[in-house]
Amino acid sequence: MAMIYCRECGYKHSDKAKACPKCGRPTEMTLSKKINKLTNDRSMVVYLLLAWFLGIFGAHKFYVGKNGQGIAMLLMGTIGWLLILPGIAVCFWALVDFVIGLCNVSTPENVLGK
Ligand SMILES: [Zn+2]
Repeated sequence: MAMIYCRECGYKHSDKAKACPKCGRPTEMTLSKKINKLTNDRSMVVYLLLAWFLGIFGAHKFYVGKNGQGIAMLLMGTIGWLLILPGIAVCFWALVDFVIGLCNVSTPENVLGK
């Protein structure tokens, strides 16, 4: 356990504390976690929008770096329609991704792979 100094009042306290016990200022760790959470939430919104509007082109898959699945969905969502069935299948795939994303909004790392 390391000791750190509060940036606000200079009080020495444990780095495990979420905030300074003397003045209540959140530690750097707490602040950066909050920022990460905000970023994750925004990413999740983008993911859901992409899955909903561009899901059949695999846009949400590319967004989270699953390029292999993204390409598969892109092919199914474009030339797949020539065979009808892959086109319909990719619609369900995108819908399933959207629903799974909705269920994991509180834990975006499950979907976004963070
Ligand atoms: Zn303090």
